[in-house]
Amino acid sequence: MPDLSTHIKLIRSGEVVAFPTETVYGLGADAWNPSAIRKVFEVKGRPSDNPLIVHIANSEEVHNFADKVPDSAQRLMDGFWPGPLTIVLKKKPKVLDLITAGLDTVALRMPDHPLASEFISKTGPLVAPSANRSGKPSPTKAEHVRADFGDNFPVIDGGATEVGLESTVVDLTAEFPLILRPGIIGEEELGSVL
Ligand code: AMP
Ligand code: MG
Repeated sequence: MPDLSTHIKLIRSGEVVAFPTETVYGLGADAWNPSAIRKVFEVKGRPSDNPLIVHIANSEEVHNFADKVPDSAQRLMDGFWPGPLTIVLKKKPKVLDLITAGLDTVALRMPDHPLASEFISKTGPLVAPSANRSGKPSPTKAEHVRADFGDNFPVIDGGATEVGLESTVVDLTAEFPLILRPGIIGEEELGSVL
């Protein structure tokens, strides 16, 4: 396990740090720090109307972001977390509009990667879009992140990511669950748990 102390300090001082997850490398920033979150949009060149996913290391954290955790969400969390599944729930008022692009919902995921878990358990929840400039392919290696953001950009090198495809996104705020973005966890697998 590489030493993460420098990267943890960077997050605590409001900087952005790239880190590996099982899907792709994420560009992490403290989910409670507005200026850190603004940096994510700036660094990526991401339009501010594209909401971010909050990454957590402990499923209890869901309750700090989601207003209600319906039965369906609990089932999916129990069945697929940690893993490449993002759930969208009604947000608590304190969740920053910067994260949700002004929506009244928030997207949450617990990555299945030892470095991501270790990192997030020390920093607290991180917003983390893929660690590439908008319009470029999602990075599956630390080298890809450096190619986009420069050799001195802070990145936790965990080697190649396993899945290489973004998480499945499921909206649980309506009467029926809705897949907003397909991913490695498919409709049938979701259905078997729901
Ligand atoms: P990424 O581009 O991998 O960072 O994933 C962000 C994507 O997650 C967004 O483009 C949306 O598709 C989805 N997403 C994030 N937050 C929400 C939300 N509150 N409601 C619906 N979809 C969301
Ligand atoms: Mg992306």
